[in-house]
Amino acid sequence: MSLSVRDLRWCPECADERAFETPPCEDGHGLDCLDLSCLDCGFALVVGVLVDDAPVVVELAAA
Ligand SMILES: [Zn+2]
Ligand SMILES: [Zn+2]
Repeated sequence: MSLSVRDLRWCPECADERAFETPPCEDGHGLDCLDLSCLDCGFALVVGVLVDDAPVVVELAAA
């Protein structure tokens, strides 16, 4: 089992497909953290939220 997950996703910053990796989580999500950051430019991408009674929101945040 690995702490880092690499995934090929569209990066709005790079305007291209880039490898994304789960960054060290500062929110206590641990292995459940769904944050991804672009290995190229560091753009942070949240691919999902683990909240039951809230609508699923995709948040985009510039690093
Ligand atoms: Zn997290
Ligand atoms: Zn990027």
